[in-house]
Amino acid sequence: MSHKAKKRFGQNFLVDTHIIADIIRCIQPKLDDHMVEIGPGLGAMTRPLLQQLKKLHVIEIDRDLIARLENDYPQGNANTPLIVHAQDALQFDFATLPAPLRVVGNLPYNISTPLLFHFAKFANRIQDMHFMLQNEVVERMVAVPSTPAYGRLSVMLQYRFNMEKLMDVPPESFRPAPAVNSAIVRMISLPPSEILVQDEVLFAKIVAAAFGQRRKTLRNTLKNYLTETDFEHLKIDAQQRAENLSVEEFARIAVFVKRD
Ligand code: SAM
Repeated sequence: MSHKAKKRFGQNFLVDTHIIADIIRCIQPKLDDHMVEIGPGLGAMTRPLLQQLKKLHVIEIDRDLIARLENDYPQGNANTPLIVHAQDALQFDFATLPAPLRVVGNLPYNISTPLLFHFAKFANRIQDMHFMLQNEVVERMVAVPSTPAYGRLSVMLQYRFNMEKLMDVPPESFRPAPAVNSAIVRMISLPPSEILVQDEVLFAKIVAAAFGQRRKTLRNTLKNYLTETDFEHLKIDAQQRAENLSVEEFARIAVFVKRD
């Protein structure tokens, strides 16, 4: 039975077998890995992953696709290799899955940024993540300071993950073809010793304030957090804009403000 792709669930199914094989090679699944796939859809990645894993968790929101998966892999049996979570990935509590967790998926592009922020909350339980995303989002994730793509997303993810763009994927690799180019990104959780920030809520507020008015100087955007003397103490030029500040400098600001 054919499935009609639903736009509201960001359904663009992978059909290029070479690209699928390349993605699986990038992921390098190991038999005993604890892995979860977001949005298995019609199983383009799920089936090859299952050939290399003992168990795979999947989170899918579409009832029609869930019914297909449950038909192919009956649930409620301890020996089933595929465990289907019929849920919204944005609400899913990843702490209920075994750690260290590997997260993979060809993500629904309409909710990719909120999904990335949701996964980041569980970074301490996550080993790594491999995602297909719009190329434009991947470029923002891996962007370096003083470039147009560098922004809140870059800083909020780079302080917790080592990220690398692995390959470009053209629209023709999907049915229906998306309107944008895609790319595969790898995110590896940094060890706790490399994470300076203790108060993540404060860090997020500072980063949001700085990038909220991108064109304004830090003196202006961070005036609720730092005085002239504070900038001098931190050896950060208050004339700069958010886009000029490294992730490490943002972290130093958050640590300093917290100390007050
Ligand atoms: N993995 C399949 C593939 O590569 O062909 C499908 C990828 S498609 C881009 C995105 C998948 O995510 C669809 O199966 C869609 O139903 C599912 N999805 C969309 N929103 C979701 C959500 N909030 N939670 C879980 N799954 C979702």
